[in-house]
Order: sequence, then C-alpha cells, then structure tokens
Amino acid sequence: MKIVVANSIGVDKNGYHIIHSPSRWSEGVKSKYHWFAYYPWELAYASSLLKLNTDYDVKFLDGCLERLNSNSYCERILKEKPDFLVMESATRMIDENLSLALRIKKAFGTKLIFTGQHANAFPEQLRALGVDYVCIGEYEYTVLELLKNPQSTNIKGLYPNERRALLDVNELPWPEDADVSRLSYGCPGEPSSEYLEVQMYGSRGCPFGCSFCVARNIYYNQSNWRPRATDKIVREITHLRNKYPAMEGVFFDEEVHNGDKGFTMGLTSAIVEAKLNDLKYEAMCDVRFLDEEILRAMKKAGYYKLRIGIETASEKVMQGINKRMDAPLVRQRLQAAKELGIKTYGTFIFGARGSDETEDTKTIVLIKDFVQNNLLDNLQISICTPQPGTPFYEYVKNNNFLRKNVRFDEYDGGNSALISYPGYDYKKIKKMKEIALSVRDHYFLKAKINDSSFQPWITAIYRRYGIRGLFFKMLRRLKTEFGYQCRKLLRSA
Ligand code: SF4
Repeated sequence: MKIVVANSIGVDKNGYHIIHSPSRWSEGVKSKYHWFAYYPWELAYASSLLKLNTDYDVKFLDGCLERLNSNSYCERILKEKPDFLVMESATRMIDENLSLALRIKKAFGTKLIFTGQHANAFPEQLRALGVDYVCIGEYEYTVLELLKNPQSTNIKGLYPNERRALLDVNELPWPEDADVSRLSYGCPGEPSSEYLEVQMYGSRGCPFGCSFCVARNIYYNQSNWRPRATDKIVREITHLRNKYPAMEGVFFDEEVHNGDKGFTMGLTSAIVEAKLNDLKYEAMCDVRFLDEEILRAMKKAGYYKLRIGIETASEKVMQGINKRMDAPLVRQRLQAAKELGIKTYGTFIFGARGSDETEDTKTIVLIKDFVQNNLLDNLQISICTPQPGTPFYEYVKNNNFLRKNVRFDEYDGGNSALISYPGYDYKKIKKMKEIALSVRDHYFLKAKINDSSFQPWITAIYRRYGIRGLFFKMLRRLKTEFGYQCRKLLRSA
C-alpha cells in the first residue's frame, strides 16, 4: 500500500510563498527573499512512525520546502499514485490544500486523512467536502493506528471519537530525514537563525494557557509539558552532526524548551559532556523558567540565542490573553542573558483580546525601550490572528468582533487584521503593527550605525541572500524608515 505524507502547498494562487506552521500560525510572503521553511515536525514524526511500524511504501513530500504551487505539487503527488494521502493544514491554506487532495482522490480513489488546526476546527465540514478521515489533536499515533487498520471506527483521536491521551515523547522515533533532509530547512533558514541549524525538539507542550495559542488549545487541549530524556536528545544531535558535517547548530523549536530547571541543567551538562558545545543552539524559552544559574549553564553549552514570547506591555492584554508575566522579570532576565553574551529574541502581538490603541501603544513604547537599551536583538511583531479552534477565535466570533466574510486564506499570521473591536478596528490594528515595525527597524538601524555593527550586518545578509536579496531587503528597510520619518514629521507638524 502506498502512503503519501504531504506538507502544504508552498506557493499559493496569489503568488505568496507559504511559511507553513499549522500548530502556530502560517503566513504567506510575497518576496522569495523573506521565505523560509519550517520543518513540519508533527507530520515528520508521523512519517517516521509509519515507516518503522508498517510495511507500507511511505513517501514524505514537502511542497513548502520545494516551493511547489498547486499544479506542480499535484503532479508530484500524482506520480506516487497514493492509496492514502495524509495532510496537515492550517486555515490559511485549507482551500488550496483540500482542492489539491480532492484532485488526487479523483485520479486514484485515494483516501484522504486530514490533521492539524483547521481539521480540528471544522471536522464535519471537511468530511462533507470529501475528506475520509479527520484526526483530532496530537495525531501521530492516530494516523498510525488508522493506517494499520483503516476499517476500525473506534480509534481514539479519529473524529468523532474522543481524543487520545497525550503521547509519550520518549517513545517517538527520530522524525523524517530520508525523503527530505533536515538540514535543508536551515537554508536559507529562519531569518533570525544565524547559523546553518537543524530544527529539533527537546520537549513538547506548555504549562501555560494563552487563549490564542494553537498548540496548547488545539493540539494538546490542556496544559502539559513533556521533556525528552536528555541522552536521547544528545544522541540525536550527535547523529545529525555525523550525518551533516556542515551543520552549525540546533534550533530547539518546541513550545517551551526550558520548562523545568532540572531538565535544562541536565541537558546543558549532557551537551558539554558529549563535547557538542561547539555547536550553536537557540531555543524557544519562557522567562519564567530562567534564572542566572540556568543562563550560565546554557551559555556554557553553546546557546547563543533565546527566543521569548513577551507579547505585550499591557496588563489588560495580559489578562485578555490569559498570560501571567511579570514585566520587571522579563527585563531582568533579558538583561542577565545579554550580560552573559546570549542574544535575545522577543515576540509581540497587536490586536489581542483586551487591546485598544492605548494598550497597544504601551507595547510600542516597550519595544522602543528594549531596542534602545540593547535588551533584544530580534523582534517578531504580529497581528494576533484568531485561529479557528482557539478560545480567542470563539471570543471574537461570539462577540461579533470578527470582520464579515473573512476568507480562509486571510487567517494569515503575518498579513491580515481580521478583528474590529469597538473603537479599535482592523485598520487601526494593522496600522499599529506597522508603526511597531517602523519603530523596531528605526531603532535597530540607529543602534547598528552607532555600535558599528552595520557593515557586518550587511555582509551577513549578502552572504545569505546574495546581491538581489540584499537589494530587496534594503529597499524594504528604506521604505520602513521612510514611513517612520514621515510619521515623525506629521507628529511634529
Ligand atoms: S506560553 Fe507560548 S506555548 Fe504556552 S500557551 Fe502561551 S503561546 Fe502557547
């Protein structure tokens, strides 16, 4: 039996290059110089499980990595003549992914298995449109059990049955690295990753419960944090390093890499003991689990950048998104990391529950403060997108805050503003995001010119993206700076 496990289409019908990340939020970028591919980890684990536990002919394909549009991807999948097609889609790409899957079904009678954020939110709708099976929540073992016994109807995690218990992360095999190379996702790589890094996972889950979070609310449906055994992580790094001599580092891209002090201390010392601390590590972290001892251990193990979800400076928004973060603690931890020479990356959202112009302005002021004081090296600024299936989506829908007639492809974490609150409509939210971007870029540019890191920065962009990439990136920077200066002039007029 032939199984194709396929990531999303990589270029949409409007020419957007898709940065697909259904357990967070997917987005499209017009310029290929802003594109990169996330390793589709849940699908990649499912693929490995199928290869290891069945005799089926399993093929893993990634339309995002190969930058395939609907037609070229369809041709690619058709060549495989699959009996089953497994896809994970975010709402952003569901229309095109579904229509692609239905073309495959029409050609070969292929059975369609859909998983992920959109399938969780609209299982009945997908089945009515021709999807044969919908897997709910964390789906790797559900897909395996289903494909071992497609006639069975009482599989946990298979809609409409109840969810299955959260999986044991230590039972998972290493994810797919045969039909795609894990190293290829590092090239050009996530823009803030400074080395040729493999995306890896030291844990899974998050003990917190932000209302907009897809992973927490849709994939897991509960607070949880599951670390892998440190020896297994170290073995995986060693294996990858031996397989890919060009590999320079690891990006631990799970929800919260440092969810427990014992785990972080154990992993960092295991990395040092295995002499893997000459690699460069970056990780998604939570400041609430960082202290100076942990930061020192991370530095010693080769961690060069920590990524932190700061989200907002507003107490009201913190409450709205159900995040409890002590602002002075954030500053103190960022400061401590920087003093040790660890770089920092912060994420911020605009238009979240509880926001208005005044509250989101506080976040812009904080961004300026952190950049001016060299507390953050990179900042990600997004509009808080109500991904279907999350409590945040239910909130905006039930209160009629969602714009009318929103298309599925507008659920884009980078481009669209979909919410209008009373007195703070989607246009204002979009404008606030743009102001935040221009403030960020202006103060970064100023800092780079002042501390003479401007030239190394330009050289790094040139090396990574070539002369055309450098040109387009600089053009974009000039546009943002122009916007910043115009706003300043208008304010002073
Ligand atoms: S802290 Fe991050 S991973 Fe955890 S619930 Fe909030 S957004 Fe999700």
